[in-house]
Amino acid sequence: MEKKQFQAESKRLLEMMINSIYTQKEIFLRELISNASDAIDKIYYKALTDENLVFDKDNYYIKVVADKVNRTLTIRDTGIGMTKEDLENHLGVIAKSGSLAFKSENEAKDGHNIIGQFGVGFYSAFMVADVVTVISKALGSDTAYKWESTGADGYTIEPAEKDSVGTDIILKIKENTEEESYDEFLEQYRLKSIIKKYSDFIRYPIKMDVTGS
Ligand code: ADP
Ligand code: MG
Repeated sequence: MEKKQFQAESKRLLEMMINSIYTQKEIFLRELISNASDAIDKIYYKALTDENLVFDKDNYYIKVVADKVNRTLTIRDTGIGMTKEDLENHLGVIAKSGSLAFKSENEAKDGHNIIGQFGVGFYSAFMVADVVTVISKALGSDTAYKWESTGADGYTIEPAEKDSVGTDIILKIKENTEEESYDEFLEQYRLKSIIKKYSDFIRYPIKMDVTGS
């Protein structure tokens, strides 16, 4: 399968994320939950104007699933999903290069505090994961697609299986090193506290499931 390359600016951000220049790695979860919430907002607003689409509140939620045996953390949403083109256009580029410039400029002045205040986006997943897999089925689409990347060397997109509309972001959590701990991102108490700290205002339910010991 052909590997596609990230655009230049994206590659720079990606490299910063992979090398984890940010001390608050935990904010990756805030970013992924905020994207999940945005995706549910989109389906909600569509339902307001499309009479064929009913927004039943109970069907819309975000689920965080940690699997300690396989070292995966999945952030699942029942939002609007992404087409193949969306995966290509939204995950291969940076949405907010303006804020990226602002960040690198101010980082030096204000240490890491400034980071917490700005969205660093999807690529922050690479702070804690060495493989990121996105499986998504867009509203109105029959086919689901899988986007996958191990970081700087690009990404692949291929057809995939997924029954329901929405997106699964699957993070293969990095192994602990002597300097850094990643195991904590598979622990229920830790995930709960990160969600409480950064995502308390999210207006959809955030469910959680942790398996393995
Ligand atoms: P931003 O959220 O500021 O646009 P991100 O890097 O966080 O930047 O995300 C880039 C884009 O990828 C989003 O704007 C959205 O179009 C798409 N995206 C990311 N996650 C999801 C998701 N869970 N469901 C649908 N689209 C998503
Ligand atoms: Mg975002």
